[in-house]
Amino acid sequence: MSKGEKLAVLKKYFGYDSFREGQEALIDSLLSGRDVLGIMPTGAGKSLCYQVPALMLPGITLVVSPLISLMKDQVAALNQAGVHAAYLNSSLTYGQYRKALWYAAQGRYSIIYVAPERLETEEFLDFAGNAVISMVAVDEAHCVSQWGQDFRPSYLKIAEFIQKLPARPVVGAFTATATKEVRQDVISLLKLQEPFVVTTGYDRPNLYLGVYSPKDKYAAARSFIERHPGQCGIVYCATRRLVEEVCERLQEEGFSATRYHAGLSDEERRISQEDFTYDRKLIMVATNAFGMGIDKSNVRYVVHYNMPKNLESYYQEAGRCARDGEPGECILLYGGQDVVTNQFLIENSQENEELEEEVRAVVQAKDRERLKKMTWYCFTHHCLRDYILKYFGEQGTHDCGNCSNCLSSFETVEVTRIAGALVGCVSACRQRFGISVILDTVRGADTARIRKYRMNYNLYYGALAGTPEQILRSVLNDLLCQGYLASTDDQYAVLKLTDKSDRISQKGERIFAKLPKEEKELWQRETFAEEKRRADFRGKGRNASLQRPMFDRLKALRSEIAREEKVPPYLIFSDKTLEHMGVLKPKSKEEMLQVTGVGQYKFEKYGRRFLAIFLDKDQVL
Ligand code: ADP
Ligand code: MG
Repeated sequence: MSKGEKLAVLKKYFGYDSFREGQEALIDSLLSGRDVLGIMPTGAGKSLCYQVPALMLPGITLVVSPLISLMKDQVAALNQAGVHAAYLNSSLTYGQYRKALWYAAQGRYSIIYVAPERLETEEFLDFAGNAVISMVAVDEAHCVSQWGQDFRPSYLKIAEFIQKLPARPVVGAFTATATKEVRQDVISLLKLQEPFVVTTGYDRPNLYLGVYSPKDKYAAARSFIERHPGQCGIVYCATRRLVEEVCERLQEEGFSATRYHAGLSDEERRISQEDFTYDRKLIMVATNAFGMGIDKSNVRYVVHYNMPKNLESYYQEAGRCARDGEPGECILLYGGQDVVTNQFLIENSQENEELEEEVRAVVQAKDRERLKKMTWYCFTHHCLRDYILKYFGEQGTHDCGNCSNCLSSFETVEVTRIAGALVGCVSACRQRFGISVILDTVRGADTARIRKYRMNYNLYYGALAGTPEQILRSVLNDLLCQGYLASTDDQYAVLKLTDKSDRISQKGERIFAKLPKEEKELWQRETFAEEKRRADFRGKGRNASLQRPMFDRLKALRSEIAREEKVPPYLIFSDKTLEHMGVLKPKSKEEMLQVTGVGQYKFEKYGRRFLAIFLDKDQVL
């Protein structure tokens, strides 16, 4: 298959000029008949890896996908691009289903999305047995593995289905989950045959990563959101109660917010998700139940109101930001309570209840370890991206220049006196208390709790009264990270001495820490993503920069068309496409086709209406 042909398909249907990392190799393999396993992070562009070959192979491509909303979205996007595609799942009435199958049998669709449960039904098998199926693509392939959190038993039937087909099609599996267990499960349970495996990097350079410990989380979140007018974002909260609370406050203050959590009815959740998808509501406040089905490409920021239980969850949720490749921002608002909440959840997890005692202990120990690594992410003073990439077993980036640590200035200062008092206080109370009691004690706080524990008689009571709490916390966390102190693994997180502790108190070891130079909280500044966005536009075509009113006009036209077509606006054109258009200001068909994301089909359908914005109306052909 020539390179030209692939690129022509990419341009014609998707409007893109080049492949991203990994895509071409996977496409080539599928076209040559060899199975593949593509492991690429969220937003990397896995769908194109099977959609492009699907349009080049003679027969039908079946795409197995776990979620109805996801299928609907992808099929709508393909239809918008002029590809004949359909889905078969339980959202269709029996009549609709029969009709779709009949069309499929007539060879009307080149791509058919199908829910895994359907594969076993007699009707579907009957259709598949008589059709020419060239490829089976399994999306979200980690659902086949019990190791992942999204296990779907019906995925286990996929291999059986493929075996029943008269001729074995080439099989492609795609996932963002990179752990070894999942990868092995995918290969063996889907019975991939000597698959060509591509793993692309986990880095998402367009995402700004930030961690902040604001005193008032709500005020921090609000101020962040205020600085992103007209943009879509997700605010993840740890509990349903908090979702309700935050969403209500935002609504009261006039923000366009909606909410999503497992306590709402199916209908409420559907409406909520749709409002967000269609840009009718800009802010989605949600628990982690708002998840896998989100394919919206123009989510510009993800705020974590609480620290999640591990980095896997964090990166997956934050990864829903800026799938269009434009700059996006992911910020985490850390509070000490977050650790306690997560510890409680680990100790009281319902899933764990069902496990045998021994297994449960192992699972919990793993969970605690992951929580610890997540917590350290919130305290590290080194590059956040570097930390994440190394966590996932990759070579780090060292200094990414696009995270809150790389953009803050730190200085190394001696903190031996502070460290000595903290270790001394832990020792003097016979290692019975957790972080907050110890900090209150050295600060000399006069609270009921301190009096109850008689910590006002502790030798170190008030010893560090003049030092800002932020600094005390920072030093304490450094001591924990470096093993001068430890904390118990239960929900109380009691501070304990270690065999390194006496180096400070007795052996006169000097302790240094990297502390932020300025106290001013970074999220109050203009953030990097905004600066970068402007710089990027300056760099792109013709030295022109995007004018806000122009972007708004293009968006308004997009909304108008979306309403007519009854599809979400981003399926007409992505934000990135509109922005590029606003910079290029195309005046002809040829110029319009140079805009990223404008393919021939979409040009015919909508391009002229957008051209009219840049021309006097009567000049358009
Ligand atoms: P994934 O399934 O890996 O999370 P998607 O397949 O949903 O990611 O793709 C994410 C976004 O990237 C989509 O908006 C898609 O159109 C875009 N995209 C994919 N490949 C390319 C490419 N080669 N050039 C430009 N944009 C691309
Ligand atoms: Mg995908």
